Amino acid sequence: MVFPFKSVEDFRIELTEEHELFRKSVRDFVESKVMPRWREIEEFNGIPEDLWKEMVSLGFTGVGIPEEYGGQGGGVLMAVIMTEELSRASVALSVTVGVRDLFVVPVLRWGSEYLRKRYVPPVAKGEARAAHANTEPGAGSDVAAIQTQARRVNNHYVISGRKIFITGAGEADYLLVSARTEPPKPDKRWWGITTFVVEREWPGVRIGQQFKVMGLRGEQPYEVILDDVKVPEENVVGAVNEGFKVLMDTYDHARIGVAAQGVGIAQAAFEKALNYAIQRETFGQPLIAHGIITEKIADMYMRLQAARLLTYWAATLADKGRPEFVVAASLAKAYATEAAEWIARQAIQIHGGYGVDFETGVERYLRDAIITTIYEGTNEIQRLIIVRQLLRQAFGLKI
Ligand SMILES: Cc1cc2nc3c(=O)[nH]c(=O)nc-3n(C[C@H](O)[C@H](O)[C@H](O)COP(=O)(O)OP(=O)(O)OC[C@H]3O[C@@H](n4cnc5c(N)ncnc54)[C@H](O)[C@@H]3O)c2cc1C
Repeated sequence: MVFPFKSVEDFRIELTEEHELFRKSVRDFVESKVMPRWREIEEFNGIPEDLWKEMVSLGFTGVGIPEEYGGQGGGVLMAVIMTEELSRASVALSVTVGVRDLFVVPVLRWGSEYLRKRYVPPVAKGEARAAHANTEPGAGSDVAAIQTQARRVNNHYVISGRKIFITGAGEADYLLVSARTEPPKPDKRWWGITTFVVEREWPGVRIGQQFKVMGLRGEQPYEVILDDVKVPEENVVGAVNEGFKVLMDTYDHARIGVAAQGVGIAQAAFEKALNYAIQRETFGQPLIAHGIITEKIADMYMRLQAARLLTYWAATLADKGRPEFVVAASLAKAYATEAAEWIARQAIQIHGGYGVDFETGVERYLRDAIITTIYEGTNEIQRLIIVRQLLRQAFGLKI
């Protein structure tokens, strides 16, 4: 009945009153402090410093990080709820906080206790910021194609290379950097990559151009240049030459956050479209009374709630440490971000000419949604993961 899962119990989503109280508190902040300033974020193309400070003082930078490492605790589901609510107002703002997952997840799950104690608490408390530098001009989806080199010299490594599209690099104090320590083996393309914690202030680290991508105004990614950067050996995260595993595990976890961004965008676009469809009259009737618009609203609502349920389900499985969370995360990421893109497109159509006008604040949802279908593993790559996991789960096959 529930093939390839074992039991209906596997579909349980565990939400509590604590989750709801937290959701309300994030929503209060968003509605009073962020929504009135969406234009400023878009036009200034940055997150106002006072909003960042307020998020730090509210403890948002520590949500989902264990208390023993300076965080607020709360797990993946709590972080998903925060991301969804922040994204409802500004995806860029949610990414400003959420990008830390791409640093904190690998350090907590694969780093030594020394690395965990040294680097996670400042990020959790908002005293330091972090980014994740993997993508290169010749390597995005194909992580094993990275060219950045790390040479071992005595008790340290020397890293040189160029990374692109690095979110949050302009403000980051710490970077999780991937580099080649050995060539790949003929039967193991993934072999030979190592991941490191690199401090922004170390000689040879340079933040280059800022990209001008179509959405995420307020949090545009950067180029990072590493020129003979000397990194102590204790800053290796995970096993030497096995950094590919660290990276894949990090994306498996962090992509649940991208699904939550999709849910937040979809929610915002849906609410705007619904309100407009009730208020706007054409041919003597509100838009929502015209059959084609009624159907659009129903379909938007269906996809929104399905996206939310998949995302909460993936987060629940991750919090329980269940291996099936990997397929759930990919299902949620691909579905929720495509639902966001589709719902944002319908919201524009329902607004007619106003929908494509910047001032109405609707077209930005589509610009943001498209990006969510690309980063942290494109949705084409999610489909590959989904089928691989399905074959593994159902038949024990590895492809
Ligand atoms: C706004 C933004 C922020 C980003 N932030 C970060 C960051 O903080 N850190 C970081 O390291 N990276 C970051 N990235 C990079 C992002 O993760 C990559 O852009 C993404 O993984 C895709 O890689 P690519 O651009 O090289 O595309 P490619 O891998 O070249 O893919 C091009 C197209 O081919 C498809 N494709 C590729 N391989 C296959 C295949 N095997 N089967 C089917 N289709 C395939 C892809 O789905 C895509 O449609 C960011 C990107 C953007 C746009």
